[in-house]
Amino acid sequence: MTVAYLGLGANLGDARQTLKDAVVCLAQQRTITVLAKSSLYRTAPIDAGGDDYFNCVVKLETSLPARQLLRLCHTVEEQFGRERPYRNAPRTLDLDILLYGDSSIDEADLIVPHPRLAERAFVLVPLLELDGECIIPLRGRADAFLAVVADQRIEKVATCQCPLLGTPDVDKTASSTASNKPDCR
Ligand code: ADP
Ligand code: MG
Repeated sequence: MTVAYLGLGANLGDARQTLKDAVVCLAQQRTITVLAKSSLYRTAPIDAGGDDYFNCVVKLETSLPARQLLRLCHTVEEQFGRERPYRNAPRTLDLDILLYGDSSIDEADLIVPHPRLAERAFVLVPLLELDGECIIPLRGRADAFLAVVADQRIEKVATCQCPLLGTPDVDKTASSTASNKPDCR
């Protein structure tokens, strides 16, 4: 089993819903256990036109070798209507392998760690939310690259729609405050 991190992005169609559905789709794979999911982020397109992106990062455990994980990512992308009319085109769903264990892979169609991981706030910020101590093989601590992406627009999207549910022994008349709201992801 290998722990891997996937970066998810979308800016065509109902992008927020697509990301949620894509995480469910990943979790349903026999070969994958989803361990954690970052918050949802809204980000500016980089080197591309089109609408803002929604992004998140998923931490998973998988029995798949990296290449098969990439193939699975492509299959899931296709199921969500991914088309590639030109480079950096708007997309219904993009699934990238950010990290695959501590592997370093440099092949024609698979580079891990993802080559733009340390240059993109939309992967670095959610990745660090999941693992603040994250080490990028051959590059070092991920948080060292935050300064590089500081000028890229990224905002956390409030996804929590659920009402405040107190634990049974909590005073139910207590008013809701930021500090006792559940951190829904
Ligand atoms: P983008 O680079 O914008 O994500 P695509 O999703 O179309 O664009 O990916 C282009 C190619 O990048 C894929 O065909 C894939 O083979 C290659 N690739 C190389 N390394 C990775 C990786 N770590 N994760 C996903 N795709 C990768
Ligand atoms: Mg991709």
